[in-house]
Amino acid sequence: MLVTILGSGTAVPVPDRFPAGYLVQAKGQQVLVDCGPGSLRRLAQAGVDLADLDAVLLTHYHTDHCADLGPLLFALRNPRYADRKPLRVLAAPGLERFVRTLTEVWPWLSPRDYELQLQEIGPGRHDLGDLEVTALPIRHTAQSLGYRFDDGIGTAAFSGDADACDELVLLARDTDLFVCDAAFPDEQRVDGHLTPGSAGEHAERAGARTLVLTHFYPECDGTDVVAQAGRRFGGRIVVAHDLLRLPVPGLPGR
Ligand SMILES: [Zn+2]
Ligand SMILES: [Zn+2]
Repeated sequence: MLVTILGSGTAVPVPDRFPAGYLVQAKGQQVLVDCGPGSLRRLAQAGVDLADLDAVLLTHYHTDHCADLGPLLFALRNPRYADRKPLRVLAAPGLERFVRTLTEVWPWLSPRDYELQLQEIGPGRHDLGDLEVTALPIRHTAQSLGYRFDDGIGTAAFSGDADACDELVLLARDTDLFVCDAAFPDEQRVDGHLTPGSAGEHAERAGARTLVLTHFYPECDGTDVVAQAGRRFGGRIVVAHDLLRLPVPGLPGR
């Protein structure tokens, strides 16, 4: 499995970090976890053609996590993608209404010459081909989901935006790679988000091997996020940046 950080930033624009987007490549599947604005550009920079994209999994409906869905559906109407394989989009209930409303505003988002498969999902297993995916409810919005991937060789978990909750520990249990919200420094905690320290605490409780800190608001600039996480986590800590590639399982984290 290969995980590529497409966007390590947030809703607040900064020069070097796009909002949330992650690419998971495993078992022949090319999967986006979230597609915040800029994710499609980063996907092209990562060398993935939209023709090869199999699925998009959304953690929640905040704009910084899904605003590129419209541009994606518009791009896929280009004749170059005619007769491409079906595109699956999985997200919590509300997905069909979300896409329908977008399509009322932008009629040219409706699929042409390919099949768009929308799937409203709850907690549980939702495999993509041979790639095992488990969704768990995460404390952030009423319907936020975290995702855990298992390709039989390694595991990777994505918190999405998250506040402290036991489900995060379950999601990241013994995982090789735990990509986790660390939006604000420990001393400036904001409801609905984790800090590096609380991300570290959840990763430690879960026994994750490598913790990837991500989703940095500008308040994190100048903060030693590794030190904050490292006070509570004994595994390997990685600070996400856009286009960072992380093989899974990769280096042993403990
Ligand atoms: Zn959010
Ligand atoms: Zn966010």
